[in-house]
Amino acid sequence: MKKVALVTGASRGIGRATALLLTQQGYSIGVNYLQDKAAAEQVVALIHEQGGKAHALQANIAVEAEVVAMFAELDTTLGPIDALVNNAGILFQQTSIEHLTAERINSVFATNVTGCFLCCREAVKRMALRHGGQGGAIVNVSSAAARLGAPGEYIDYAASKGAVDTLTTGLALEVAAQGIRVNGVRPGLIYTDMHASGGEPGRVDRVKALLPMQRGGQPEEIAQIIAWLLSDAASYVTGSFIDAAGGR
Ligand code: NDP
Repeated sequence: MKKVALVTGASRGIGRATALLLTQQGYSIGVNYLQDKAAAEQVVALIHEQGGKAHALQANIAVEAEVVAMFAELDTTLGPIDALVNNAGILFQQTSIEHLTAERINSVFATNVTGCFLCCREAVKRMALRHGGQGGAIVNVSSAAARLGAPGEYIDYAASKGAVDTLTTGLALEVAAQGIRVNGVRPGLIYTDMHASGGEPGRVDRVKALLPMQRGGQPEEIAQIIAWLLSDAASYVTGSFIDAAGGR
């Protein structure tokens, strides 16, 4: 039987690349998105063209009731979840701490941290052996910013990714005996739309010369890591992090 994966933020960028790669590996895909319905439906259509199964799931992961409803819809459309990719994340305009407001910080944390927690919770309820589940695997998409701090750009975002890393460590230990592996990926500078949200669409090309590898990364390069961490090839790996930041 096909395995079922839910990828949050799968309409664009790293999530989209991950959804397409997991399809090639035989997963049915829940394609979560926030507002870009056309982009999400295009991902679903591409998956169908490849002979795969997919279902678009609109939900704001920062809103508990929407996460609960999304998982219920996944259950009825594609079946029990085997793999969760907590990929959806946001950042705002580059700025220094003088311009950070509580509203902005709370908004970043609501999506990047609370959303990740809520999706982990719903997945564990379904995967854990103690709940009659079959086990599973979770990959949390963090950022090199968790290590580097993103000074002068978005330390709120960096701190949210630090929290994601701590969630990954704690949850991996909490559910290791429940047949669930939890790991993290920390991408560096990847060519996606996200940098436009920070006010600098060309950020990767501006900064890439400073990287040891002197280039930005492609979403597909991150998707490969996520797919490996979800796979049986990584069956003895939990609570681990893979940095994919061109050597930084
Ligand atoms: P993009 O900005 O390209 O895409 C973001 C995706 O997340 C979209 O699918 C968007 O949906 C979805 N999304 C945003 N907010 C929510 C929400 N509240 N609920 C549900 N879905 C939501 O992002 P990237 O592909 O660049 O980033 C993916 C992950 O990788 C993020 O966690 C990011 O922090 C991390 N990362 C990215 C790096 C980079 O250089 N790009 C570097 C390090 C980490 P919609 O299309 O509907 O708006």
